[in-house]
Amino acid sequence: MIIQLRNTITSAQKQVLTDVLTQNKYSLTEVSTQSENYIVCIGKKEIDIRTIGNLAGVTDVHIVSDNYKLVSRKWKVRNTVIDLGDGVTIGGNDISIMAGPCSVEREDQMQKIVEHLLKNKIRIIRGGVFKPRSSPYAFRGAGVEGLKMMHAICAPHGIKIITEVMQVSQIEEMMPYVDIFQVGARNSQNFNLLDALGELDKPVLIKRGISGTIEELLYSAEYVFSKGNEKLLLCERGIRTFETAYRNTFDINAIQVLKEKSHLPVIADPSHGVGIRNYVAKLALASIISGADGVIYEVHEKPEEAISDGQQTLNFYESDKLVDNINILAQTSLCD
Ligand code: PEP
Ligand code: MN
Repeated sequence: MIIQLRNTITSAQKQVLTDVLTQNKYSLTEVSTQSENYIVCIGKKEIDIRTIGNLAGVTDVHIVSDNYKLVSRKWKVRNTVIDLGDGVTIGGNDISIMAGPCSVEREDQMQKIVEHLLKNKIRIIRGGVFKPRSSPYAFRGAGVEGLKMMHAICAPHGIKIITEVMQVSQIEEMMPYVDIFQVGARNSQNFNLLDALGELDKPVLIKRGISGTIEELLYSAEYVFSKGNEKLLLCERGIRTFETAYRNTFDINAIQVLKEKSHLPVIADPSHGVGIRNYVAKLALASIISGADGVIYEVHEKPEEAISDGQQTLNFYESDKLVDNINILAQTSLCD
């Protein structure tokens, strides 16, 4: 059960409310986010919600049968829209496009990519500076200096930045330069990181774990929300299966399931989802038809020279074509 509280609730009113709930054997978690105050109640007892709803200081009460609560669509029918400022929103009527290199490499590389984004009216750049790599000998990222460099190039154009944070200690120094913190697949269940991101007023995109279930992804989002941050995005990026013909099995089913189960925006990552350049664009389009609110994909001037993930990275020509097709698709009823 989720109880929404009035901002004006007094401590005496809250005491009456919590007494009723504890008498009914609910365990309570108080959640204060950027916009609202809630009490999340976990318990077995059936209760007539009017006995709660009529108490002073309560705005609304919702019975949520899902195990995750705050991220569930069962209490919030309207889609969550994330506002990044400067007219950039995610989860509204438009399809969001986030594109950029797997790794931030050099200034000239980033300049070229930004020019490509501007040409295509793409407002959000992706680019990792802390890279989770399977091999300890692979490039581990340009670090905060790389992030500052990317920010210096993007900020004058109002281009927003999504980049991966790998550990709690990185958050503070990254904070001024990031518009969306990305939690990578390998960190999808790093609960300390999720807790820490829950204390920020900054959007967080959580990728599905490499062998994570849809429910586990929703629980990860619940961690962040229940710590106080409602600005959340879910990302399908493929899972590990027995199939070896491609890097990951892009679970397009998950997009519709997530949209039905949660009010949060869903972003598709076909680049990591399939891991093979030739298949990325079609999967991006298929994700949009399946209801994704946006796509995130890797693009580079010379993918064959990219330091990481070149095999799944689009070149500028392929990316131009994809954006054209997304724009065509967005105008059809296929996206409804
Ligand atoms: C990435 O986006 O570059 C990345 C490492 O993604 P994932 O966590 O999905 O593997
Ligand atoms: Mn990558």
